[in-house]
Amino acid sequence: MIRFDYLKPSTLEEALSLLYEHGEGAMLIAGGTDVMVEIKQRKIAPKALISLRGVKELEYIEPHNGGVRIGSMTTHRTLESSSLIKEKFPALADAVQNLGSVQIRNVATIGGNICNAAPSADTAPPLLVLGAEVRIRGPRGERVIPLEEFFVGPGQTVLNRGEILVEFIIPPAPAYTGSAYWKHTRRQAMDLPILGVALSLSLNKGEASNLRKLLAESATMEEILFSLEESGLVCQQARIALGVAAPTPMRAKKAEGVLKGAKLTGRKLDEAGRVASQEAQPRDTLRGAAWYRREMIQVLSKRLAIKCLERIFLGEKR
Ligand SMILES: Cc1cc2nc3c(=O)[nH]c(=O)nc-3n(C[C@H](O)[C@H](O)[C@H](O)COP(=O)(O)OP(=O)(O)OC[C@H]3O[C@@H](n4cnc5c(N)ncnc54)[C@H](O)[C@@H]3O)c2cc1C
Repeated sequence: MIRFDYLKPSTLEEALSLLYEHGEGAMLIAGGTDVMVEIKQRKIAPKALISLRGVKELEYIEPHNGGVRIGSMTTHRTLESSSLIKEKFPALADAVQNLGSVQIRNVATIGGNICNAAPSADTAPPLLVLGAEVRIRGPRGERVIPLEEFFVGPGQTVLNRGEILVEFIIPPAPAYTGSAYWKHTRRQAMDLPILGVALSLSLNKGEASNLRKLLAESATMEEILFSLEESGLVCQQARIALGVAAPTPMRAKKAEGVLKGAKLTGRKLDEAGRVASQEAQPRDTLRGAAWYRREMIQVLSKRLAIKCLERIFLGEKR
């Protein structure tokens, strides 16, 4: 193991000034589940680690104007246990309940997951479809930017030297909105995604009085799609985000455009999935081939759209 100083500030101000003082050789550590692996693998060799573990002011989940603010030091386990996240932001709940193991989730943080900027970061696609913004503090003050603008490349973000990601701000979802995330893996536990797909759908209120009944009575995908054709539902807003489909987590905006304002039918969902798979830039990797990822983007987009509808009309009954 390399030698480094370990500094443990107890406030955000203290952490910011330590980061400034120690300059280029300093690195932040939150849960350490990415940092320590990289140090052991000798990919990085920081002279000083500045731990945020004692900075309790960065650990919170707070309702905010109908949405929520999440402190960057909030662990995945805390998010997983939050009824607010489960009820109002289910795509994020889907992501954290399947991230690593319980031991990892107990220490790893949402801030670390996003700042590590891996294309496979499980919380990125859900946060993107939920329209999250990030608050950043640094030597020059504070800025708030959309999460979409945060990622620059694999492992790279817009964070400048001396800056700390403070919190995520998720706006309220419109009425009749459902969201979902699916992590496509080879095995059920302790695996990074071959592909991550998140989707959120918002519908025009009151246009689907009979869909609840139709959905409840439908057992197969074909029946559900038939119910959809019957209902004439119009999509007010759609967001689709992909992980491991490009150098950074990405929004599939052309595919979103296919759904926005359109009547939701099986054919429309197929078209949106096809457009999303064309927008993506997946690579061949050990976990999966690019062609396979493109295929799965189509399959999963459609499945997740149906999951969103089920969540809107049936809650978590399925
Ligand atoms: C066994 C194992 C399984 C895993 N499984 C998954 C998985 O299924 N899905 C997944 O997405 N990830 C997985 N990971 C990766 C890792 O656990 C997550 O990315 C985790 O969320 C990182 O959070 P952390 O708090 O441990 O970050 P750290 O390792 O402490 O930090 C990660 C990076 O973020 C920076 N950083 C941290 N906090 C801040 C902040 N507030 N402001 C600015 N920079 C900051 C650090 O300097 C560092 O560059 C796994 C890791 C292991 C070891």
